[in-house]
Amino acid sequence: MRSWSLATTTSVTLLALLACSASNGESLSSPPVGSEHPARSTVQGTVGAAGIGDPDFPSDGNGGYDVTHYSLKLAYTPSSKHLAGVASISATALHDLARFNLDLSGLHVASVTLDGAPAQFTREGSELMISPAAQLAKGAKFTVRVAYSGTPKPVRGSSNLGTYGFIPTSDGAFVVCEPNGAKTWFPANDHPADKATFDFELTVPKGLTALANGELVAGPVTTDGKTTFIWRERHPMVTYLATMTLGDFALRTGTTPRGLANLAAVAPKYNNQLDRVFRLSGRITDYWSTVFGPYPFSSTGGVVDDLNTGYALENQTKPMYGGFIPDESIIAHELAHQWFGDSVSIKRWNDLWLNEGFATYAEWLWAEHNRTITAEQVFRGRMSMTSSPIWNYPPGKARPDDLFNESVYTRGAMTLHALRQRIGDATFFKVLRTWAQNHAYGHATTDDFITLAERLSGRQLDSLFDVWLYKRGRPEWPERPRRQTRPTPGNSRPTPTPTASPAPTRQAGPYRR
Ligand SMILES: [Zn+2]
Repeated sequence: MRSWSLATTTSVTLLALLACSASNGESLSSPPVGSEHPARSTVQGTVGAAGIGDPDFPSDGNGGYDVTHYSLKLAYTPSSKHLAGVASISATALHDLARFNLDLSGLHVASVTLDGAPAQFTREGSELMISPAAQLAKGAKFTVRVAYSGTPKPVRGSSNLGTYGFIPTSDGAFVVCEPNGAKTWFPANDHPADKATFDFELTVPKGLTALANGELVAGPVTTDGKTTFIWRERHPMVTYLATMTLGDFALRTGTTPRGLANLAAVAPKYNNQLDRVFRLSGRITDYWSTVFGPYPFSSTGGVVDDLNTGYALENQTKPMYGGFIPDESIIAHELAHQWFGDSVSIKRWNDLWLNEGFATYAEWLWAEHNRTITAEQVFRGRMSMTSSPIWNYPPGKARPDDLFNESVYTRGAMTLHALRQRIGDATFFKVLRTWAQNHAYGHATTDDFITLAERLSGRQLDSLFDVWLYKRGRPEWPERPRRQTRPTPGNSRPTPTPTASPAPTRQAGPYRR
């Protein structure tokens, strides 16, 4: 995710922002819900936890099961702001379950069935608690079907997260859910630690377009003044990346120069940007696939709506730009997230720099590729800002009350550059590609990244990551000569000296914040 602002003298300038988070897949065994949430079921057995185990976001997600697939059949009418439909959620019980929770904010639940049989349910806050007629055995695969309707309400003014979730627009909706806004429009295990595939069957008034992740597999079909679009994301996806952005859009479909399916969509206000967004999205996606390894999904693209959210989100296969013309840098950022954040996802929100530091570093790499400015120059420019607040916020532990702090972006990116300086270009880019490949469609942690970087470089890097990610204060730079290098047989090249580039004499335009 990326916020933006307009520089007064130059063009669009990117601002820092955004956070996403995830929690541990292993930490699903949070304490059972206590007596303040009495189970209504008469069957005996354990109760799925009301949170997935992320201590920074204790009620996000749920424990006790793992979702494998969401099938969302939804209709939305912009004039009445009414959403109605059915969510069918396929999951596996991780232990015996007498009751389990889904996250759902507002909206009226008409009925819940489990494998076709009616199930009892209760609501409490954003928790939908479901009690099957019979206990689910550990390992059981089940499908819970929730019929619901109402007026979705986005989350507003939450810390520094802005407005997110299902956001109504004049002609439809802009749906961007990081970090935990999926529950504003469908019942979910709403935490990035639980990824699943998705099908969307979206019905909207004739003349409007409904966009979701993945590819259009059927439709659009119009009957009785309504048009239905069927989209499928066949690769695992975290819930905050799911979208059903809809409205009046101009579309361009085709392929990238390397042949990947590409779709651009713009609101009427941005019609003159349609071809540019299509071309740039294709070109940048193709370039990243030469840097980070094969593109992880089946299509790419970008959607520019006219609702001003002040940020963009890296929705899987279709980044969403909220109310501004995206410049190359922000497109490069959101598309780099397809590898870092979307394919390789975090388990806990405090590892957010693994998403935002990487995507911000991709902005620097894109500028370097275009010979605008080198990553080294950007890094030096940031180092020269000795009083920057990023030195007071260690980015390796993103704080729940300030998840999208600029440090998570900029100091996160600087961490990667410091690593690149230490281990050299060849090993550094091998680390990025191996990271994307080894954890594709899954999850990873900061410790996993450090372990990989040490293994591929043959160097001990814990002190580097410690000062960059976990310590307050501006790291010493240039680094002092290190004594702890641990050459590995066959990989004992000396650390290349960073190319000395003159410090920029002015703030680089695309990076001024
Ligand atoms: Zn981002």
